[in-house]
Amino acid sequence: MIYDGPAPADSDAPRTGGVPLAPAGFVWPVCGCGGPLRFFAHLPVGDDVLSVFLCQNDPGVCEFWDARSSANRVHLFPREGLRPVAVPESGLALLPVTSAIRVHGVAFDPDEADEEEGEPDAYDIARQGWRREPGERFGKQREVLGSLGGSPSYLEDDRLPACPSCAGAMEFAAHLEEGLTRETAMNLGGQLGYVFVCRACREGAFLTD
Ligand SMILES: [Zn+2]
Ligand SMILES: [Zn+2]
Repeated sequence: MIYDGPAPADSDAPRTGGVPLAPAGFVWPVCGCGGPLRFFAHLPVGDDVLSVFLCQNDPGVCEFWDARSSANRVHLFPREGLRPVAVPESGLALLPVTSAIRVHGVAFDPDEADEEEGEPDAYDIARQGWRREPGERFGKQREVLGSLGGSPSYLEDDRLPACPSCAGAMEFAAHLEEGLTRETAMNLGGQLGYVFVCRACREGAFLTD
């Protein structure tokens, strides 16, 4: 997923920031600290949309890096019939700027991996390789906003989340980077974000490495 300039706040295309689109009756998620979670990303995947929130009201205290924390939330909505949600008036609920995301396929060539580093990591290779892509417009690795699908990059097995409903293994859905600039980025403590889903239970999870 590559940064692709500013986007309308209520766009149904992939984006970070802006206003979440949700089904009628959706209640804005609240952190254990009492503040609203901040809306991070709108990621359409097939007939569904991943909607990612995390708390930025008290970074370092609210444990957004932990999949079991109330400081993050991932919703899996059916894409049909979503509408912009009313935004809480206090707390850090929105990012200052909405950013469009362009999804760009990158061929994975295991031969490019450094063999001394052990198993090649597809996401890491794609991210590093972005600077060499002929079609790139901005030319910096920081324009990589994450990936859809694939496998979780350098994540220890004991960090893989269990579904909060069925306790089964969750499917990896996306990586999310912090973002390009101070106005467009989420504070992930300098870490990479991971999004997981259980499609059967329509549950989602977020954590950072
Ligand atoms: Zn919080
Ligand atoms: Zn489940």
